[in-house]
Amino acid sequence: MTNRPIMPSSPAESAASLYPCGRPLKQWPTPMRLVVLGATGSIGQQTLDLVAKHPDRLQVAALSCHSRVSEVAAQVAALKKLQPEVPLPLVAVTDSSAHKRAAVDPLLRDLLLPEGPAGLVTAVSDAPDAHCLVNGLVGAAGLQPTLAGAARGMRIALANKESLVVGGDLVTRAVVAGGAELLPVDSEHSAIAQCLSGRQESEISRLILTASGGPFRETPAAKLAEVSLAEVLNHPTWDMGPKITVDSATLMNKGLEVIEAHHLFGVSYDRIEVVVHPGSFVHSLVEFVDGALLAQLGTPDMRVPLQYAISGEKHWPLASGRLDLVKTGMLRFEEPDLVRFPCLGLAMAAGRQGGTAPIVLNAANEVAVAALLAHRIRYADIPRVIEDCLTAMPAGPVTDLDTALAVDLQARTEADGRIDRLSAAAG
Ligand code: NAD
Ligand code: MG
Repeated sequence: MTNRPIMPSSPAESAASLYPCGRPLKQWPTPMRLVVLGATGSIGQQTLDLVAKHPDRLQVAALSCHSRVSEVAAQVAALKKLQPEVPLPLVAVTDSSAHKRAAVDPLLRDLLLPEGPAGLVTAVSDAPDAHCLVNGLVGAAGLQPTLAGAARGMRIALANKESLVVGGDLVTRAVVAGGAELLPVDSEHSAIAQCLSGRQESEISRLILTASGGPFRETPAAKLAEVSLAEVLNHPTWDMGPKITVDSATLMNKGLEVIEAHHLFGVSYDRIEVVVHPGSFVHSLVEFVDGALLAQLGTPDMRVPLQYAISGEKHWPLASGRLDLVKTGMLRFEEPDLVRFPCLGLAMAAGRQGGTAPIVLNAANEVAVAALLAHRIRYADIPRVIEDCLTAMPAGPVTDLDTALAVDLQARTEADGRIDRLSAAAG
């Protein structure tokens, strides 16, 4: 057993290792009790589906939604029916007017936590007998709940990759200090974790992340300026929330995942590669020092990596689609095109730069994606907004959470200003 990074890091890339190969995980009680943040989202709903499939193994201690109060009430009612003997979960509702509606809901009013981000942190810190945080929030809003889960020494099933992009070393240090467990939900990182299982760091050469290539994999550069929002949201293989779907179309998602892999596995950026794999059935690979490659394959079903994280790297039974290798046919891989998809290069450069650069990148991207979804800017404007913000805010060190949050806020203001100018110019 080792507790060191897989590859020795240079001082510039000193991500603490959280993911030592073959480290023992804690023994948690059965049933394991979950805090599900972002319960009404794609990851959250799939988590509750797993609870319904394994009611003897999983319970819910707390839930959160942003504004979809009637959906979260229906989730609480479904849990009451599924596990009548289990106390109802606490409920955090972050949006202020939605919280007011929840406060008069007969089912939710006695379960309700404070509104806003404080409710998320309270859910993680105070939910009774909670063991595992499933962080299915979208964006940097996930960082503080991740840190709260780390401080409580929980198992953290992390879908919210932005926690690691923005929090980086803060998260890795908090996980180690709190004696917590950080397990990836992202399918690529779950695949890598499975390939690394039982290996020594000296055996590993490279991590290879696969990318579907998104809906514009074959779209010529000139046409990318004109693509519609509907085309952006039409992901070829995965059905996900709107923000990650846009990130998949720009390849920013893969850039964020490179940064996530760096922090999660303690591997230097030189040893993390991206290949486009349109089939999306090879979820990622590890290359060993003798040239051997290990990959993890399967149909695109997020419940598989989600369950693998929650269970503590176990293959519990699941009626997911089975990959038909004969029908699958060829293994196809391509080089990512950094000219047509500048977001990938911007993210990899910000990751290498480290410090505040990934925070600025992430904040500018979140603001630009929201502006695209609100029809305020075009698809091709997204990398321009991000690049401008990175230029306007040179990277500095991140010493603590307050610095990270202040830089995040400043980058959002910078991006807002740039978007105002772009949308005014457009008309
Ligand atoms: P989603 O948009 O479907 O759900 C997000 C959830 O967060 C919702 O419950 C929403 O109410 C809540 N939320 C949104 N804004 C909030 C805010 N400001 N404060 C508090 N709560 C807020 O998103 P998703 O697709 O489930 O993705 C969640 C995370 O998982 C993202 O980081 C994404 O990159 C990652 N992820 C998702 C998938 C997938 O298949 N959906 C796959 C891999 C990784
Ligand atoms: Mg992924």
